[in-house]
Amino acid sequence: MTAPQFDVKNGLYIGGEWLGPEGRETQVVLNPATGQPLGELPLATTADMDRALEAAARGFEQWRKTAPQERGAVLARTAALVRERAEELALLATLEEGKPTAEARGEVAATAALLDFHAGEAVRIYGRVLPRPTGTRSLVLQQPVGPVAAFCAWNFPVMNPVRKISPAVAAGCSVILKPSEETPASAIAIMRCFQDAGLPGDVAQLVFGVPDAVSRHLLASPVTRKLSFTGSVPVGKHLLKLAADTVMKATMELGGHGPVLVFDDCDLDKTLDTLVTHKFRNAGQVCVAPTRFHVQEGIYERFTKGFAERAAALKIGDGRSSETQMGPMANPRRPEAIGAMIEDAVRSGARMLTGGAARSGDGFFFSPTVLADVPLDAKAMNEEPFGPIALIRPFATTEDAIAEANRLPFGLGAYCFTENGRRQNQLADEIEAGMVAINTVRLSWADAPFGGVKESGYGSEDAPEGIASHMITKSVHIV
Ligand code: NAD
Repeated sequence: MTAPQFDVKNGLYIGGEWLGPEGRETQVVLNPATGQPLGELPLATTADMDRALEAAARGFEQWRKTAPQERGAVLARTAALVRERAEELALLATLEEGKPTAEARGEVAATAALLDFHAGEAVRIYGRVLPRPTGTRSLVLQQPVGPVAAFCAWNFPVMNPVRKISPAVAAGCSVILKPSEETPASAIAIMRCFQDAGLPGDVAQLVFGVPDAVSRHLLASPVTRKLSFTGSVPVGKHLLKLAADTVMKATMELGGHGPVLVFDDCDLDKTLDTLVTHKFRNAGQVCVAPTRFHVQEGIYERFTKGFAERAAALKIGDGRSSETQMGPMANPRRPEAIGAMIEDAVRSGARMLTGGAARSGDGFFFSPTVLADVPLDAKAMNEEPFGPIALIRPFATTEDAIAEANRLPFGLGAYCFTENGRRQNQLADEIEAGMVAINTVRLSWADAPFGGVKESGYGSEDAPEGIASHMITKSVHIV
């Protein structure tokens, strides 16, 4: 196990300068596998946030005028640096978030791929010329919206910051990012990649602080023209209300409650292998995690048994060990919340097949848990668990399964397993979700829109749509 240097002491990046704890409050960062401190992070003062806003205003004026080819070149160089520093980035993500290093390496590779995609897209932001009488013109211009205030969660400590900075940079916007205070080192290491790739200092700022104080300050400023948020539905709703005061554009990547519809005709063993790995990825702390497993009656008993056996066999431990298949939860709040949800589900009649308890000792570990016959009124069937619990229920017909998938106010990722082509089309058409995966669990590709509907949010990330959401259109009529 190589230990990367964990240094968040000078973690604020404002106007091209790295700032430290002098005259600022600090916050301790914990290793979730041990519960021990890793470092101390400086928190931005109000004056720091004002400086970040001033820098972002200057950065926007400079960057919007920069050739798209130059913006793309900076992103391509950033991608190369992320690949060069992949091992350091992956180890930092494991240290501060807990995920197994193999998973973190996958996250870093996907992050570099996204940067490369945006590097190419930066030169493909096209307007339109409308048909008019000779000698006259109507044009539709695409222009960058302006400085972006972005906030992201801790669950993908490398990818989440890039999903915020990279499309803004491609579009010609400046950005102030507040990543999670619980996973700052990965965000800092990513910002160093942008800096070393030649991104001008004023274009991207990194701040940490008390989340509510930072978001209130940045969103109240007339400098900020867009909100971009990845996190929970309640916080998302709160931020949208703040953003309404200045009518700013918004991209909201909020929580989900992923339904999984498993039909009698699926390849059962393959489906189980795929689903169990995906369910417990990042200890279930993924916005598109498969959560509610609706299984057709004919295979219900075999499915629940096979799922529980595979879950019970998973190796839990420190993410830095190559043996580990599931690491700890990212912070002490999660095991507590998951424990309460399981207790409630069992009280309302669910059958516990395996797991169900936090692991005693150091770190924030929770055993992979499988519950069958979970009543619809159990809390876990209605609120996003964000943890290592699988909730299984039987269904009879395709229509029942679709109704169940659409029952909740969420609509992020949905999964279906069936070999019937006609049914695959019906599921794709009728499930209310931003992303539907059929016979696969992969929903995230750099070139495909990633995002939700209903209370899971709006304004996709990735794909050309992720850049379009950083643009405004302007019609110009010349006679
Ligand atoms: P939380 O809602 O308190 O925090 C989630 C993230 O939002 C954190 O990174 C936090 O720094 C940030 N945040 C919180 N309040 C904020 C504010 N007022 N302004 C700006 N940012 C703010 O929850 P948590 O305990 O850290 O995580 C659990 C919940 O978060 C889960 O139930 C899940 O729904 C959600 N979550 C979602 C995602 C996602 O990818 N959609 C990722 C992580 C967490």
